[in-house]
Amino acid sequence: MNASFAPAPMLLNEVRHDWTRAEITALFALPFSDLMFQAQSVHRAYFNPNEVQVSTLCSIKTGACPEDCAYCPQSARYDTGLEREKLMAVEKVIEEARAAKASGATRFCMGAAWRSPKGKDMPYVTHMVKGVKALGMETCMTLGMLDEQQAQDLADAGLDYYNHNLDTSPEYYGEIITTRTYQDRLQTLANVRKAGMKVCCGGIVGMGEEENDRAGLLQQLANMPEHPESVPINMLVKVGGTPLADQADLDPFDFIRTIAVARILMPKSHVRLSAGREQMNEQTQAMAFLAGANSIFYGEKLLTTPNPEANKDMQLFNKLGIKPEAYEVHEDEGEQEAMIVNKLQEAQLDSMFYNAAK
Ligand code: SF4
Repeated sequence: MNASFAPAPMLLNEVRHDWTRAEITALFALPFSDLMFQAQSVHRAYFNPNEVQVSTLCSIKTGACPEDCAYCPQSARYDTGLEREKLMAVEKVIEEARAAKASGATRFCMGAAWRSPKGKDMPYVTHMVKGVKALGMETCMTLGMLDEQQAQDLADAGLDYYNHNLDTSPEYYGEIITTRTYQDRLQTLANVRKAGMKVCCGGIVGMGEEENDRAGLLQQLANMPEHPESVPINMLVKVGGTPLADQADLDPFDFIRTIAVARILMPKSHVRLSAGREQMNEQTQAMAFLAGANSIFYGEKLLTTPNPEANKDMQLFNKLGIKPEAYEVHEDEGEQEAMIVNKLQEAQLDSMFYNAAK
């Protein structure tokens, strides 16, 4: 073997919190195969590479958000044609969670388009957490900024994860959002940790940032005192009416590189393929799994109507020999496993027939 082709040595059991920007940009600059090899090696040291965790997202309050995030169709500042919806009734949310569970999802994520929850909202959201938890699912919420007390109230209700993204590097942040600071975000994340919840935190690529900004985002995440347990890496979804509607496409290889570097920097975290996955072909998604992504969202409108998107995911899982990861502390794990196997078998049957509608 020619030693000059070997990637830089990695200590596989090393979880670091002191990455320099230069080290991270050097990883981005590796030849693609070397980067993928390192990411795969790290991934296999910590995870079963053939398992992917599956979550379902439910928008519990849609649109009319006062913030100005340049990518977001839910901001009240942009005319995107999105229909505003009030906070969903608690029972309706629990019904959606039940449907998600029946289709094999182990975690239910509830999102509200708020700057931060108001006092009058808290009893509703804490009831939602308790109700979903009672179904035996993991719970996650994203409600905007939280103060210490709100974080504690959610933790006391049994919330497992709180999602709050950093979005991009500190340097590029001002190009994307002006209504809250980077420090505001870090403070919410600190409040979430202090309350004892797990953190889901990542960002968006393809917003016109440079590679150095992608490195900067990952540096912020990787140098937190504790790595976020979940790291969503979103590809910008360009929505008409938002300031980023006409943004140039990011090369999919740059997206895959971001996943691979995230995997190397945060070996024990679930790296999640989030928004933008629907626009990716199967090959790009497969490469993202190879690079170390091991969590996906099933899509928003799950099982309220027949959900061909979820079925397509199962078909891709089948082609790649991937199994949905079971929720480890699930009480009726056997039942959960049986459900997932059933879904896979259905998907396998489906894929045996030509479907002209797809
Ligand atoms: S805070 Fe959230 S919902 Fe509001 S505009 Fe920003 S991303 Fe959208």
